[in-house]
Amino acid sequence: MKKYDLVVVGAGPCGLLAAKAAGQAGLNVALLERKSDMTRIERTCGQTFVSMNDYYFGDLVTYNRKGKRIVFPKNGFSFNYDGPTKNSYAWHIYSPNGNVLPFGLPEETRKKGDYGAVALSYDKEILLRCILEEAKEAGVEVFPGINVNDIASTSEGVKIDGSGKTFEALYAIAADGCNSRIAKLLGFNKNRTAYCYLFSKSWYMRNVKAPDLDILISSITYKTVAPGYLFIFPRPYGDDLTVVFLTLDPRVNLDDVANDYMKENPFFSEWFKKAELMEQYASAQYMFSPIIEPYKDRILLAGDTGSTQELENSGAMISGWKAGNAIVTALKEERVGLKSQGISDYIKWWKATYIEGYRHEDYIMNFALPFVIDNEEDLNYIFSLVKDPLPPCWNPYAAIGHLGKLIQSLIPTIQKERPDILPKLGKMSKPMIEILETTNKACKPLLDLD
Ligand SMILES: Cc1cc2nc3c(=O)[nH]c(=O)nc-3n(C[C@H](O)[C@H](O)[C@H](O)COP(=O)(O)OP(=O)(O)OC[C@H]3O[C@@H](n4cnc5c(N)ncnc54)[C@H](O)[C@@H]3O)c2cc1C
Repeated sequence: MKKYDLVVVGAGPCGLLAAKAAGQAGLNVALLERKSDMTRIERTCGQTFVSMNDYYFGDLVTYNRKGKRIVFPKNGFSFNYDGPTKNSYAWHIYSPNGNVLPFGLPEETRKKGDYGAVALSYDKEILLRCILEEAKEAGVEVFPGINVNDIASTSEGVKIDGSGKTFEALYAIAADGCNSRIAKLLGFNKNRTAYCYLFSKSWYMRNVKAPDLDILISSITYKTVAPGYLFIFPRPYGDDLTVVFLTLDPRVNLDDVANDYMKENPFFSEWFKKAELMEQYASAQYMFSPIIEPYKDRILLAGDTGSTQELENSGAMISGWKAGNAIVTALKEERVGLKSQGISDYIKWWKATYIEGYRHEDYIMNFALPFVIDNEEDLNYIFSLVKDPLPPCWNPYAAIGHLGKLIQSLIPTIQKERPDILPKLGKMSKPMIEILETTNKACKPLLDLD
């Protein structure tokens, strides 16, 4: 049986970048993916780069429009992307009655062109195809239709089984995403805090009459048994959008969330009167605390595999690139007889950048508002107080800091006009597991942790 230097499991953004990095350094790499069409999207994704006007995971993603390349200048890697793109110039969060909390004003940011954009939309199928082509050019052997169901370390490396085939390698990278089977098989989930699920149902839509079609939009509904959310992402095709209905609570029927926005809510239903629904997608993902030490027995976990639900595509790409290079370094160290530090450097980076730099509690806090402000009138009121735009932003970790400052600035007014809301806002400082208590209880029977 052929023995690879590295087997990468999962051909999402992380696995593709890991395979490309290792292939370009001359390693014998096998890339295994359970989908038979590797670049087909089967799960909801907003298909935007987080974030275009701010550092994210220590890098500043850049689109080379002329050369058609996506560039990560701080990490020194790039890849071809020959598909369409569209800039998003702000992120606006709406309360149920249509009051807006704006991260940026598009009429201002548009003036700066590419440098005013908070996000860049792309076609993820084309993007994955482009990276896959570069991985193949680098000599990576590609195995679609392999659903990995077992992984074990051997005296000489790692053995991986899936779809009736066995692969052997000196190292493996688990890039099998947020609901990783490999993380579970290796016991990584045992000490993680299980917060809840994140469920979504989405459509590509046409003819939605939102006020701006080149911004990101989100909102909250209280019409369901637990909070429901709306997210709208521009697509890089005319005025097409990806419209996502989302919840953290399995008791919520996402059709009810969709129905509220598209048919019932007097403000939003106007947007959807002539909407044409096209391809439909869905997702169901665990929300665990992250894996702190993502390495065991020559198996390195990268991208969403070790995260709290998502690192975003850009975070997963950076993690994949660094993980691939960590294996390149580790193998070279072994072969030339140097002290091993390739893997430990990766783990140091993971801890400093993600675990400490981008706290998972801050990420989950983006969903907290309706859990503390428990009725729509109160949320409508708070949003009515917002007079000035917040900084243009499409970075969930930065956004939560801006939101905290905004709420602090509104406290004197709320104290005067609606002191009954203050104790609710005070709950924002509690641990997320307490804020999500009821939803966490509803999720518990479904969470298959160990
Ligand atoms: C509703 C929603 C909206 C989002 N919107 C955005 C957005 O706008 N911008 C953004 O940057 N990010 C967004 N994301 C997050 C983004 O999709 C992920 O962070 C990113 O895809 C993670 O990349 P990854 O390679 O780590 O994992 P994944 O993309 O999940 O890739 C994992 C791969 O492994 C494969 N796999 C899984 N198990 C096995 C197995 N046992 N054997 C073989 N293969 C396996 C899967 O088929 C998949 O191809 C969104 C996510 C959701 C759920």
